[in-house]
Amino acid sequence: MAGIRRLRNVKIVATLGPSSSDYDTIRALFDAGADVFRLNMSHGTHEEQAKRHAIIRKVEEDTGRPIAILADLQGPKLRTGVFAKGSEELEAGQKFRFDLDPAEGDATRVCLPHKEIFAALEPGSALLVNDGKIRLKVEDCGAGHANCVVTTGGTISNRKGVNVPDVVLPLAALSDKDRADLEFACELGVDWLALSFVQRPEDVTEARELAKGRAAILSKIEKPAAVKAYAAILAASDGIMVARGDLGVELPVHSVPPIQKQLVRGARAAAKPVIVATQMLESMIESPMPTRAEVSDVATAIYEGADAVMLSAESAAGDYPVEAVATMDSVAKSVEADPTYREVIEASRRVSRTTIADGIVAASREIAEATDIHAICCFTQSGTTASLVARERPSVPIIALTPIPATLRRLCLTWGVHCVLTDSIERFKMAVVSAARAAREYGFATETDQIVVTAGVPFNVKGTTNILRVAPCDERLIFRTDPE
Ligand code: PGA
Ligand code: MN
Repeated sequence: MAGIRRLRNVKIVATLGPSSSDYDTIRALFDAGADVFRLNMSHGTHEEQAKRHAIIRKVEEDTGRPIAILADLQGPKLRTGVFAKGSEELEAGQKFRFDLDPAEGDATRVCLPHKEIFAALEPGSALLVNDGKIRLKVEDCGAGHANCVVTTGGTISNRKGVNVPDVVLPLAALSDKDRADLEFACELGVDWLALSFVQRPEDVTEARELAKGRAAILSKIEKPAAVKAYAAILAASDGIMVARGDLGVELPVHSVPPIQKQLVRGARAAAKPVIVATQMLESMIESPMPTRAEVSDVATAIYEGADAVMLSAESAAGDYPVEAVATMDSVAKSVEADPTYREVIEASRRVSRTTIADGIVAASREIAEATDIHAICCFTQSGTTASLVARERPSVPIIALTPIPATLRRLCLTWGVHCVLTDSIERFKMAVVSAARAAREYGFATETDQIVVTAGVPFNVKGTTNILRVAPCDERLIFRTDPE
């Protein structure tokens, strides 16, 4: 039986939560198209996350396909405590109090368990709750409380995010909770760690030191300071998330689309995966059908060349998690079949020829696209060569082959990369044989087709991409023609 292969290039990240925590749902999300699962450390216990992790690895085993797991650290995000009734309606004009009392909240008050915030607030400061949907103004405040008046009402519920755009908060990049969550996630065996509210490249370096190579580091760009320091943050990171939720609260919402374009282009030029996130199919939390505007938003991110599009509450807490993934999948197929998509992708390619690897990946795309080649197969240790091929955004499928499971799973986030685990390869002929085998097994090519193979010899050494071979898919021919 041919293995499972996705018929699109952009990847889909699905956040897991109460709506998607049993085997059947997670399996259905994978079957519908989810390539990466996000564990949101802001919600749920370690026990719940460990259970989800085990189910994902079971789905991996049952389907024989690698899946990336991304643990998203809360970061210095301010959140309210919980409510006795789970939620409350706030009306414009009413009074509402935030304090340090851990007791469950009601219609008059809720806990805001961050002393720093009370120290920094002043009468007149704005407090924004739930991605800015609810707005309050501070009337008076002290060391452990703030009495506010609601300026824009709405439903406030458990652990909703709070932003304070007018005030600079003296917060460390990683809270004690983040450090504990990071260690827990690394021990569990996640592939990516997402850092929330990154402000400086040093924040990334600090997390990298704690991760000790156990997970790749993705920076969520959601602060004005991070947009300013983007080049340095990108250089320090392995991947990027355009975290539009908080970005659109901390900055005017109309500034988000141009920033999204800038971040996506920058990440692609650096050959690092970039996720466009938040509210992509927001109405599907409650409806089986998306709005036209949401479909257009997903399409736009794909036209821009993003590596991945993400679902948050749609898959974590909504009524239609599988439908939301299926919607992204069909939008992706529709966009990628559009000739205009290829034109846009071609036009935004930045030519880079600084290293031998850059030259080889560029040549492999040119050869494959100009002739009747069915796949670009690259042997990769760290994943770098596969990421460089993906940066080229070729019209021909990319197969990444590696003996290292961690590399394989991390690459599940990268545009167009179909990941295949190989035995450890010592000789080039065997590399060609296993590339041809993978291309045939997953239905990319048949025995009469040809593929491009890139590799570095000697094998098992990082950063040695130095071979480009056009090879037949027929093993008898490979054995007859290829050098050892
Ligand atoms: P969050 O991050 O869902 O963890 O807040 C994404 C965003 O802010 O867009
Ligand atoms: Mn956020």
